[in-house]
Amino acid sequence: MTYADDSILVLLDVTPSGALAKSAAGLLGAAAQVGTPVALIVGDEKLAADAAALGAASVIVASPGEGLVVPVVDALVAAADVVRPDAVVASHSIEGREAAARFAVRTRSGLAYDAVGLSRDAEGVVAQHSVFGGAYSVDSAVTWGAPVITIRQGAIDARAEAVASAPVEKLSVTPSGRKAAAVASVEEAVVSSSRPELRGAAKVVSGGRGLGSGDGFALVDQLADVLGAAVGASRAAVDAGYVPQSYQVGQTGVSVSPQLYVALGISGAIQHKAGMQTAKTIVAINKDADAPIFEIADYGVVGDLFTVVPQLIAALEAKKA
Ligand code: FAD
Repeated sequence: MTYADDSILVLLDVTPSGALAKSAAGLLGAAAQVGTPVALIVGDEKLAADAAALGAASVIVASPGEGLVVPVVDALVAAADVVRPDAVVASHSIEGREAAARFAVRTRSGLAYDAVGLSRDAEGVVAQHSVFGGAYSVDSAVTWGAPVITIRQGAIDARAEAVASAPVEKLSVTPSGRKAAAVASVEEAVVSSSRPELRGAAKVVSGGRGLGSGDGFALVDQLADVLGAAVGASRAAVDAGYVPQSYQVGQTGVSVSPQLYVALGISGAIQHKAGMQTAKTIVAINKDADAPIFEIADYGVVGDLFTVVPQLIAALEAKKA
């Protein structure tokens, strides 16, 4: 099969249950902005149609071999060999970033890590990054070969147009024989909440020390449920035991890039901002008018959250009714 000269090879994550990960749409959308997206799926051929529906111009399917990550990197190497892409793009998920980094090492390519945007100049594909806690935006480009770029989940809104029937190439991959951890069994964590997952959520409501207690934090849950949002927290709220560590947003927690981020009783320390500053719209409610969160907020309410948030919830519910 022949591939377009401006092909972007897009590694799509496959979940343990065998579906395309949610990041697929944003990755293909990002690739379509700078070239022709060619999806690589290391998994079931049936997923090719899903990739085409999300805008893959063509799809390469490789059967997974034994082991963790190594078969994906083997497939990436083989796919890059046939596609000769202008860039290789992967999700900045745990799986995606490991495969991308290993691929970059194996092929001696330059790696641009945790991009929040892609563009193209006369010399090739350029990655945009939000760095130093979101205080600076920088571009990165490689001086040799095709860049390998991981993209922060949720950071790119662009969506590619669905492709009615994308050609599918089944790639036979010769295993590299490199050492790989074996997967003995997979047990999916039971999701006990109907809320969206924090990573990759379109809306996030986060609470901080200002909630005062675990019971007080219920207000964050209530607002999140009215908005259909995921729930996050500052480290101070986690350290105080209001919520588990998996809720933490920030430098040492989860990085999010939602359409809407609502910060309740969060001061806006640089380590918190590092994980949420790329949100499209930031709303802050804080009783301290000088709290640093207001420096980056698009909308701010100075007031006691225990007064403001119940009113906000009532207004949103009234609008829904
Ligand atoms: P505070 O800074 O105590 O702010 C509480 C806010 O609530 C205040 O602004 C106050 O005015 C407001 N408030 C209080 N009561 C009310 C009320 N009734 N109504 C309205 N507003 C009210 N932090 C993170 O969040 N994520 C990280 O990943 C992270 N990583 C870190 C890594 C390192 C190496 C270090 C050193 C720190 C890290 N931190 C992280 C901690 C960070 O520095 C801050 O301490 C933390 O973010 C503060 O959390 P907070 O805003 O909830 O608490």
